[in-house]
Amino acid sequence: MKSIWPLEALRLILSVLPATLLGWLTVGAGVGFTIGLMAYTAWHLWQLYRLERWFRLDRKRNPPEGSGAWGEVFDHYYRLQQRHLNRKRRLARVLREFRNSTEAMPDGTVVLDREARIIWFNQSAQTLIGLQGNQDLGQPIGNLLRLPELGESLESEGYPEPMEVTSPLHPDRYLNLNLIPYGEGQRLLLIRDVTRLRRLERMRRDFVANASHELRSPLTVVQGYLEALSEDRKITEEWQRPIDEMQRQTQKMTAIINDMLELSRLETEAPDADRERVDVSGISARIREEALALGYGPRDVRIDVPAGSCILGAEAELYSAFSNLVFNAMRYTRADGTVWISWTQGRNGGLFSVRDNGVGIEPKHIPRLTQRFYRVDSARARKSGGTGLGLAIVKHVMQRHGGRLEIESSPGQGSCFSCRLPVNRLVTE
Ligand code: ADP
Repeated sequence: MKSIWPLEALRLILSVLPATLLGWLTVGAGVGFTIGLMAYTAWHLWQLYRLERWFRLDRKRNPPEGSGAWGEVFDHYYRLQQRHLNRKRRLARVLREFRNSTEAMPDGTVVLDREARIIWFNQSAQTLIGLQGNQDLGQPIGNLLRLPELGESLESEGYPEPMEVTSPLHPDRYLNLNLIPYGEGQRLLLIRDVTRLRRLERMRRDFVANASHELRSPLTVVQGYLEALSEDRKITEEWQRPIDEMQRQTQKMTAIINDMLELSRLETEAPDADRERVDVSGISARIREEALALGYGPRDVRIDVPAGSCILGAEAELYSAFSNLVFNAMRYTRADGTVWISWTQGRNGGLFSVRDNGVGIEPKHIPRLTQRFYRVDSARARKSGGTGLGLAIVKHVMQRHGGRLEIESSPGQGSCFSCRLPVNRLVTE
C-alpha cells in the first residue's frame, strides 16, 4: 500500500500556498495563509462529520467515500467491521451447532451461572428432571432439584464426585448427576439415566448371591461325607490321600463362597449402617492370635497399637478387612520374616497398616490388586489358599467407612497395606 502521507502533505501545500500567494498580491500573505489553513481545516472537519454521522446513523451501509488519509481511515474501519461481522457469524454458527448437538444428546445438560442459576438446558433435561421451558430459566437449580447431594456439590470447590440419586419425577428411576466447573465460576450439570445399569448391576449381584447361597448347602453335605470318610477306618491307605485333597478343595470352595457372599452383602447393604465403637487394639490382638494359629507364615508378628485406640464403624466388617491384610502378609512372607501391625491417628484421620518383609509386588500389579480374583502369581496364591477376593473385600469395607486402601510394595523387599480412615471415624477422648 502506498503511503498516504506525501499526498496529504501535498494537499496541505496546495491549500495553503495558492491562498498565501493570492493574499500576498492582495490583502497580505498572512491573511491568505490563514484562509488557506482554515479551508484545509474545514475540509478535515467535514470528513470527520461524515464519519461521525456514518457511525451514528447507518453503520450497516458501506462507509462514505473519502480521499487521502480519510479514505484510508474509512477503508480501515470498513475492513475491521467486516472482520468483526464474519467472526460474529462464525461464533453464532458454532454456538448454534453446539446447542443443536447438545439438544440431540440423550443426556440432560444444564448450564449454570456462578450463583447456580439456570442459564440454559436441553430437551433431555426437561424429560429427566422436569425443567420447564422459559419458566425455569434464571431459577437457582437448588430450588428446583431439592437433593441434599446436589446442594453439597454446589457448595464444594473444584470437581465434585458424580452423584447417584433417585429421579425427582419417578422414584423407581436412578440418575447420575455430574457437576463440571468451567469458565469463571459457571458449571455444567450433566444428567444421565442409569436405571438400566443399576438394574443390571442388581441382577448380577443377586445372581452371585443366590448362586453362592445355593452352592453352600450341597457343599456342606459333600464336606460332611468327606469328613466321615476320612475318619472311617475301613477306608484303605490308597484312598486316604485323595480324600484329604478333596477335603482341602471343598474347604477352599467354602472359603470362596463365603467371601463371595460377604462381598455381595457389602455391595447391597446401605453403607454407614453401623457406627459402633470398635477397639483397634483389641481386634489387632485377636487377629494376631488367629494369624499365628494359621500354621504358615512368620512367627514374628508385632503389634504397635496404642491401648484404647478406638474408631467408629462396623466391627465385623473392620475385623474382616484388617484380618485379610494380616493373613495376606502371613501368606506372602517367609517363616523367618516379620509382620508389623500398627495404628496411628492424627489430624488427617487414622491409619491401620500391615507391613511385611515378604515377597513384595511389582508396581505394574498394584493398581489391579483389588480386582476380584486378580492374582500376581496364580500358582503361588492358589497354593497358599487365598480366595482372590480378600483385597476386594478390604476395598469395599473401606469405601463403606469413607476410607481407602493404600498399597506400597517393592519386589523382594516387602509390602505395606494401609487402611486410611477419615477423621469423623476417630474416637478422641
Ligand atoms: P488372595 O486370596 O489371592 O491373597 P487377595 O485379593 O487377598 O487375594 O490378594 C490379591 C493378590 O495380591 C494376591 O494374590 C497376591 O498376589 C497379592 N498380595 C496381597 N497381599 C500381599 C502381600 N502382603 N505381599 C505380597 N503380595 C500380596
